[in-house]
Amino acid sequence: MNSPIRAVTFDYWDTLVHEPPDELRERRVRIWAGLLGKAGIPVDPDGLRRALDASWDRYVDAWQANRQYRYPEAVDDALAFVGLDPSPALRDALAAAFRDPGIDGADLHLAEGLHEVLADLRERGVRIGIVCDVGMTPSPVLRSVLERHGVLGHFDHWSFSDEVGCYKPAAEIFQHALAGLGAPPPDRVVHVGDRRRTDVAGALGMGMTAVRFARWFDDAGPGPEAHHVLVRHADLPAALGIA
Ligand SMILES: [Mg+2]
Repeated sequence: MNSPIRAVTFDYWDTLVHEPPDELRERRVRIWAGLLGKAGIPVDPDGLRRALDASWDRYVDAWQANRQYRYPEAVDDALAFVGLDPSPALRDALAAAFRDPGIDGADLHLAEGLHEVLADLRERGVRIGIVCDVGMTPSPVLRSVLERHGVLGHFDHWSFSDEVGCYKPAAEIFQHALAGLGAPPPDRVVHVGDRRRTDVAGALGMGMTAVRFARWFDDAGPGPEAHHVLVRHADLPAALGIA
């Protein structure tokens, strides 16, 4: 059966995948402390925590200003914060560990019922994309998490900010998604995400249907409200009138 909905795009963090509190930061702290210790540079884990938090704050400022801030810059900022200037080889090892702190699927939770709803949408001929603002963990690693959970193959296309070059709510990243999904009319496309300022505002700005996903983060901050607010992906087809 043909659906009036031609495509659905999903945000990544707290929509497809949830990070238990500080899971990635703590992994980075452990690995960095180990690498630095082995190199004879003892560091206080709390100092590393503060350094990573400081680089995260820089990321948030850049994100809100729609200026790209990728992991190499975060590594430089964190090292400067703790006053370290490691050898090039050690810096490379620290950057590699920062880029992919050894996460496997089990460390990050996939949304309940996601596999089923993606399969259901595909059966209805709906194309499926990702529109994601990347933070510290670059998009190849984020895709590998979906692959380990067995859902990457459901997606027809993806638009990650570190590859597109801008963050939501900029029209460019949504246009990238639409182009990759066969250029459906925006009023027949749905975006699902947890953030009002980026996901909801971006989708509404494009003339798309906005769904706010409040399972993990119920955004009470500034920004418009979506057409629908859901806490279960299983409720998406009914909310869109295509169940
Ligand atoms: Mg999100």
